[in-house]
Amino acid sequence: MAIRITGGAIHDPANGTDGDVRDLCLDGGKVVADVGPDARRIDARGMVVMPGGVDIHAHIAGPKVNAARKLSPEAREPQDRTEILRAGSGGLVPSTFTTGYRYSLLGYTTVVEAAAPPLAARHVLAELRDTPLIDKAFLILMGNNQVLFELIREGRGLRDAIAWWLEATGGYGVKLVNPGGVELWKQSNGRVSSLDEHVAGFDVTPRQVIDAIGTAVDELGLPHPVHVHANNLGVPGNASTTLDTMRTLDGRQAHFAHLQFHAYGGKPDGLPRSRAPELIDHLAAHPELTADVGQVMFGPATTMTADAQISAVLRDLGADKWLNHDTEVETGCGIVPYTYRSRNYVHALQWGIGLELFLLGDPWQVMLSTDHPNGGSFLSYPKLIRLLMDRAFREDQLKRANQKAIRRTMLLDRLDREYSLSEIAILTRAAPARRLGLADKGHLAVGADADVTIYHDRADREEMFATPRYVIKGGVLVVEEGQLRRAPPTRRLHVRPTYDDAMMRDLSAWFDRYATIALANYPVAPPGDAPVPVGAA
Ligand SMILES: [Zn+2]
Repeated sequence: MAIRITGGAIHDPANGTDGDVRDLCLDGGKVVADVGPDARRIDARGMVVMPGGVDIHAHIAGPKVNAARKLSPEAREPQDRTEILRAGSGGLVPSTFTTGYRYSLLGYTTVVEAAAPPLAARHVLAELRDTPLIDKAFLILMGNNQVLFELIREGRGLRDAIAWWLEATGGYGVKLVNPGGVELWKQSNGRVSSLDEHVAGFDVTPRQVIDAIGTAVDELGLPHPVHVHANNLGVPGNASTTLDTMRTLDGRQAHFAHLQFHAYGGKPDGLPRSRAPELIDHLAAHPELTADVGQVMFGPATTMTADAQISAVLRDLGADKWLNHDTEVETGCGIVPYTYRSRNYVHALQWGIGLELFLLGDPWQVMLSTDHPNGGSFLSYPKLIRLLMDRAFREDQLKRANQKAIRRTMLLDRLDREYSLSEIAILTRAAPARRLGLADKGHLAVGADADVTIYHDRADREEMFATPRYVIKGGVLVVEEGQLRRAPPTRRLHVRPTYDDAMMRDLSAWFDRYATIALANYPVAPPGDAPVPVGAA
């Protein structure tokens, strides 16, 4: 059904529109120039109109998410079935239906599951199919894959193998997590101290893995560049590793995940301090690099990561329960429920570093995430947005945090920036959509997807962003004043790059020798939706 949204202030930074009051017309799932007189009218006078939210990095589906649900049954928060909604469970790690409902109620229309083992693609796709109201994509883990180690060492077939793996899994992009380091930890409880350390048994180094896979992804022309969770997450002094990783990828496009967790100074066994300003300076000089923040929010979280080693570190810090899992020859996985406390030096510093990254950075380059649910739930985005938009609120919150930590950031004296509505639209919509290579998302020009969120323009920005007045997904009105109205079908975004299948013989022999699944049984059925084009600028 055609819709005409009248009188709203449109914030569409990708097209240079900053609060202009004009009509917006939707038809056939797209933004159109005009609609007829029979179109449904939505009166948006006094309201703010933005493209639907795009989350570039969250954890919402697959075996690790499911394991986290099972690990904390006490936090389930059951949701009853209604006429429109399926039953589910909430909490920090909601069930599939509830995940889709809650993102939609926040005005989000596209979400990326940031780390799926290729071997688990079938499970990931099944859960994503079950997740309503949002378009979704997933990134496949490739930084500790033993076949790829061999191809990297031998210098052949890597690009074709990556292309095959994307096709075989229905994946959208390539993720590196602690490249080389997870394998090292699985073998010997070892830790990567430098990018030139050798991964025992494979004769490759993290630097070679980062360089080779970064190059291959660049050459394949995937819509999203290599997505990097760098080595040494959480370790004091790790900003040096992060900068080294950025330099290793020099000249190629790359996205750095949850940069806050990789922005620390200090000695590895001492207290961390902030090196956020240096990382922001490096990004400013390298427009080919982007990042999301991975903001920590005080309160409960659930850490879940392919970086199995960091889960062991968190366990040693006194976790009540944890889970660690080896995905045979591909990757690892650890889960630890965790609470960030405002009075704790390290937690307050992490919170402060996240805010520094936002307040020093360019929103086109430094995007919003909490690495849900690692730094906190996606449900905390409205509060995070208020921290960025409302300096008085931020200063009040700063007083409640560990003062020794806050004094070691730039937050008290020099950072009085307040984000504008259009800047919020950049870091929650326009920038992530552009970085994901989703040409029809994150903006509102004619031809864009009709994913639109309309907010009351409230002084309390947390309240404003927590309860949109309307959410429209693919041209269908799905949310009105905090109530879900309907759940139309959504898309699973994937790519299908072409490849030379000369390496399939090697791959087949390798599967015969080492894998628990035959090569012929490995590929999943493609998601059904048309693939997102590869090789576009
Ligand atoms: Zn993550």
